[in-house]
Amino acid sequence: VSSIDYDVIIAGAGVGGAALALALTRRHALRVLLIDRRGGPGNVNRGDSLLPAVTRHLRAWGALDAIVAAGARRVGSMQVFAQGELLYQAPLVANGDTPYLVLPHPEIERVLVERAAASGQVEVRYGCRLLRLHEEGGRVRGAILGEGHSSRIVRAKLVVGADGSASTVRAALGLTMGRRAYDHGFYIIEVDRPSDYHDAMRVELHADGGVLVVPQGAERVGLGVLVRGPQMELFRAGSMDDRLAAIARRSPLLVGRQAFARGAHLYTLSRGHARRYSARGAVLLGDAVHVTNPTVGQGMTMAVEDAAALASRVAAPLGAGAREAELDAALGAYEHERRRHNEGLIRWSHWLSRFYSLGGPLGDPLHRSVFRMGGSPFGRRVHQFLWSRMATRAA
Ligand SMILES: Cc1cc2nc3c(=O)[nH]c(=O)nc-3n(C[C@H](O)[C@H](O)[C@H](O)COP(=O)(O)OP(=O)(O)OC[C@H]3O[C@@H](n4cnc5c(N)ncnc54)[C@H](O)[C@@H]3O)c2cc1C
Repeated sequence: VSSIDYDVIIAGAGVGGAALALALTRRHALRVLLIDRRGGPGNVNRGDSLLPAVTRHLRAWGALDAIVAAGARRVGSMQVFAQGELLYQAPLVANGDTPYLVLPHPEIERVLVERAAASGQVEVRYGCRLLRLHEEGGRVRGAILGEGHSSRIVRAKLVVGADGSASTVRAALGLTMGRRAYDHGFYIIEVDRPSDYHDAMRVELHADGGVLVVPQGAERVGLGVLVRGPQMELFRAGSMDDRLAAIARRSPLLVGRQAFARGAHLYTLSRGHARRYSARGAVLLGDAVHVTNPTVGQGMTMAVEDAAALASRVAAPLGAGAREAELDAALGAYEHERRRHNEGLIRWSHWLSRFYSLGGPLGDPLHRSVFRMGGSPFGRRVHQFLWSRMATRAA
């Protein structure tokens, strides 16, 4: 038997891969190699809401204080406006230990990778790409990694593909993930903070599409601008002035804003779920195994929850030097646990996005009347149900 270099190789130091490195090393003396083909944490804002379902895990892994120290803002309420009129307001109930926090995505990646490396058990290599899986006897025994112009075989007991929606690991395992595209997208941008904005998950409704406003530090807010058919070209290729004018038309709050264009992007959307999560002793998590509509902020949430579930299944057997059959059973249990849960989240995200993205003559009046009803006893029950299902996982 060839010697082992690491217990686990994780391909992809995005939020999912970094969370897994953190979770694996929390209680077990495992040696982990965490690689990413990029030169460091990204600069694209790819979702920044840390829902209570996530902060619960970050606290357990000892990373929550570092997230707060990095400038995460606490969000305690949801507000829905239409052209300056407040239609709906509700507290986002979260217990103090597991708050709803917002931090730019690259900062979340940076903090998680740093906390994982601080364990002394995780070697982090940026600029290192998984090229192929290394197999012996029909089983994945490691990976062929490329750095600069050189490549080498690195052996491990377990290889994890946390390498995003175009996963190299998934392709090498022969697992496919069909994807269905949405007819709408989200334009993600930061602007200067309006003086009459107070930290909240604030939605500005408009017939052209809603705008989600969340805090980004003390000086800025992040916008998630729903973009439909006719405006896709404007937000893909139009000038920044034209984009800001289109955003300003949607809400008085957004008139006269200044853009911080770094990391701004038009995020095109699809949903998909691979049929299998593991094969031949290697396993996938996060976007490598599912993609979802981000209207209710589940992409990053699901990646972190996958990481927590996978670590809870494999860390002890890996630490105890378990045989392959035991490891395979742990991978099967992880898939069984996550598949049904993720399928439900993809479906809920889909139907809630269908409601939120509804255009035409009916869309805007329907949105307004539904949110106006939100203050009724029935509306509050619906809000509580959705919040606990999508954000706290309390139910
Ligand atoms: C361009 C883009 C914009 C997005 N914007 C939003 C948004 O605005 N709102 C939202 O809710 N969600 C957004 N998402 C989705 C959200 O980012 C993901 O759901 C979440 O980050 C999943 O985390 P992950 O760790 O599984 O994958 P990712 O964050 O995709 O991380 C995968 C990592 O793997 C690395 N990698 C890939 N291939 C290799 C390889 N062969 N070897 C080594 N490393 C490799 C990549 O460099 C990357 O760092 C966006 C996704 C993308 C791709």
